[in-house]
Amino acid sequence: MTPSLCETCGSMREIVTPRGSRFLMCRLAATDPTFAKYPPQPVVHCSGYVPKEEGDSKVPQGGNSGSAPDDQR
Ligand code: SF4
Repeated sequence: MTPSLCETCGSMREIVTPRGSRFLMCRLAATDPTFAKYPPQPVVHCSGYVPKEEGDSKVPQGGNSGSAPDDQR
């Protein structure tokens, strides 16, 4: 079966029903009507695709984490 981009997309939310059915919900659909809330699978091309690692945990470098080392001076 063709893998779907949604599987690795940071905008995807997995919905599993109590009966075990699984749906992939596109969170972009909440703000952009060009995206389907439950896109037909598999999705092989998508302009909104963002790899999950970046979509979930992208932290700008030099952010205000409060723990930046002060070894440059
Ligand atoms: S943005 Fe595209 S790839 Fe990502 S969940 Fe939505 S439809 Fe799938």
